[in-house]
Amino acid sequence: MRRIIANKAQCRKCNDIIESKVRTQRVKCSCGSIWVDGGKYYIKRGFKESKDDIIELSEFDGE
Ligand SMILES: [Zn+2]
Repeated sequence: MRRIIANKAQCRKCNDIIESKVRTQRVKCSCGSIWVDGGKYYIKRGFKESKDDIIELSEFDGE
């Protein structure tokens, strides 16, 4: 399994880059359209209106 180095994403609406650093820490962008969760344990994403608002920026080890 790939190791997560950075669990982050950018919001297409407000351009915020948000990062979840701790497991079960849900981090929202400033407009509230998207959130990231999972820290270095798992990649979890949520959104208010559309999945297309999420720009995936996560980095993995071993690629
Ligand atoms: Zn936003």
